[in-house]
Amino acid sequence: NLSGKSAVITGSTSGIGLGIARALSDAGANVVLNGFGDVLAARQLVERAGGKVAYHGADLTQPEQISDLMRYAEKEFGSIDILVNNAGIQHLAPIEDFSVERWNSILALNLSAGFHTTRLAVPAMKKKNWGRIINIVSVHGLVASTNKSAYVAAKHGMIGLTKGVALELAQTGITCNAICPGWVLTPLVEQQIANKAQQQGISLAEAQSQLLLEKQPSGIFVTPEQIGALLLFLCSDAAQEVRGAAWNIDGGWIAQ
Ligand code: NAD
Repeated sequence: NLSGKSAVITGSTSGIGLGIARALSDAGANVVLNGFGDVLAARQLVERAGGKVAYHGADLTQPEQISDLMRYAEKEFGSIDILVNNAGIQHLAPIEDFSVERWNSILALNLSAGFHTTRLAVPAMKKKNWGRIINIVSVHGLVASTNKSAYVAAKHGMIGLTKGVALELAQTGITCNAICPGWVLTPLVEQQIANKAQQQGISLAEAQSQLLLEKQPSGIFVTPEQIGALLLFLCSDAAQEVRGAAWNIDGGWIAQ
């Protein structure tokens, strides 16, 4: 039960972040949503789960907007007990064609944003001697795929950050861990399926099943709800000594 606890979930208007926000709200936490797109629909879905909901539209590629988000969350609910670094973007291109701009924005969002939110959240967590920092990374934090150099580099970096922060906080009640999903059917992956279908002249259904079977032995997508349930475990007292872990939930992807 997380009632009385407050959570910030970055990139929670869609996909995995939205699933996590619903899970945390259902467990009784107050949640601060963040992200773009259909904010109202996301907000309504999370409110239906039960807890209090607030929203801040910070663009997390901008460090000063991250400071605003963190200040807003502390003011709104009095504390940030659970920080979920989830917002992320993808771009596919071979290294020699990879746009410098895309490299910079992927590094800013998928890696540096987590540094900023974490450095800003830790002081108040230390005062309470309790906290959960959970980074939604990817199997691409552990293994690579082609044409995703920025994403793979940022996600590997995020696992490094997770371990470093976990060590620094090892003698406190604050834990820092990573969750590494395989394929989850969200807009981020729907775009990759559409690209694949177009490039190979195949149907969306065919592209989807090819994409799954190339990497994910189960042939089944992981769901945001399953990731939410794993995250709730990491928030529990039972997970107090899980520190610096990179927990894959990937239909067998990295077992190969
Ligand atoms: P998604 O596209 O459905 O959601 C991304 C969220 O981030 C949205 O709420 C979006 O508005 C927000 N966002 C984008 N740019 C932002 C910015 N500059 N500032 C603030 N918010 C921003 O994607 P998803 O699949 O749910 O991905 C969530 C996380 O999970 C990402 O870090 C992604 O790398 C990771 N992940 C996804 C998969 C997958 O298969 N979908 C697998 C492993 C890891």
